[in-house]
Amino acid sequence: DRLVTAEADGDDQAVEAALRPRSLDEFIGQERVREQLSLVLHAARARGGTPDHVLLSGPPGLGKTTLSMIIAAEMGVPIRITSGPAIQHAGDLAAILSSLSEGEVLFLDEIHRMSRPAEEMLYMAMEDFRVDIIVGKGPGATAIPLELPPFTLVGATTRAGLLPPPLRDRFGFTGHMDFYGPAELERVIHRSARLLDVPVDDDGALEIAGRSRGTPRIANRLLRRVRDYAQVRADGRVSREIASLALDVYEVDASGLDRLDRSVLHALVTLFGGGPVGLSTLAVAVGEETETVEEVAEPFLVRSGLLARTPRGRVATAAAWKHLGLVPPQNAAS
Ligand code: ADP
Repeated sequence: DRLVTAEADGDDQAVEAALRPRSLDEFIGQERVREQLSLVLHAARARGGTPDHVLLSGPPGLGKTTLSMIIAAEMGVPIRITSGPAIQHAGDLAAILSSLSEGEVLFLDEIHRMSRPAEEMLYMAMEDFRVDIIVGKGPGATAIPLELPPFTLVGATTRAGLLPPPLRDRFGFTGHMDFYGPAELERVIHRSARLLDVPVDDDGALEIAGRSRGTPRIANRLLRRVRDYAQVRADGRVSREIASLALDVYEVDASGLDRLDRSVLHALVTLFGGGPVGLSTLAVAVGEETETVEEVAEPFLVRSGLLARTPRGRVATAAAWKHLGLVPPQNAAS
């Protein structure tokens, strides 16, 4: 239920579908991945074949699902969307694979979370477009080979390093997605604002961009909250001032930190002199579970250069003190 989470929440689904770019040309940023993909798709079209399997790696909310839909659209083929955790048994995967149509794109989100037997079935399917369906158990079990139509697997993972090498090696192309810069996010926001019919000026879009943690999904979500504010408290137009007032109400600050992030920093700085302090002590001080502090708050604080994880504990950097409007002590970590 955090406004700044990069994971999709229930509310996002319908709006996200409406805001998805439909072609590579419409897709903003990620220049390198876009160019590489464009070559892969053009070559496949010229050959009249299906594109190689594609692996997209990167944090949530950066456009992996969107790119998989674009691949299908650019190739003029249907797409089937599923995820690693949804495929627990090899049979689940066999059912999906055997019902694919020729050339279809299969998008497998969180591919690193598939079960081992399903993964092994996938190796063969990717390489030979074939699966062995095992019928029966024990010594009487037999493998019935099943031919599959050629298809393109698009796998998405938050960390390509988590994939077993035999799986990684079966992708013809891996695209690494990075966080978006403010100028790119500004374009994402302008584009979404046009589609949602919200008048936003450049400064308003930049203000939202600066609070979006480099993530289009968050940018789109913040835009919707700012739109509400602009409609209820002003004339509907989004300027820098309106965006900033709106996001202050939602407690998302100028750097994209929310209340949880700030309370962690605040405790670290005011209660522990900037650290080092152990994770569990810090968690007790902010009244949260250690997992929440470690997995929900810290990654962005670390990425923003505000908090460092050291062998002796968590440490606030000089930037953290400044962020809270405080003067860093002489020995603060940089
Ligand atoms: P992921 O699969 O990586 O979690 P999605 O593809 O679902 O991310 O993207 C989340 C939202 O962000 C979608 O609504 C999509 O429209 C938007 N989005 C992502 N990347 C871009 C982009 N490059 N340009 C415009 N909108 C984008």
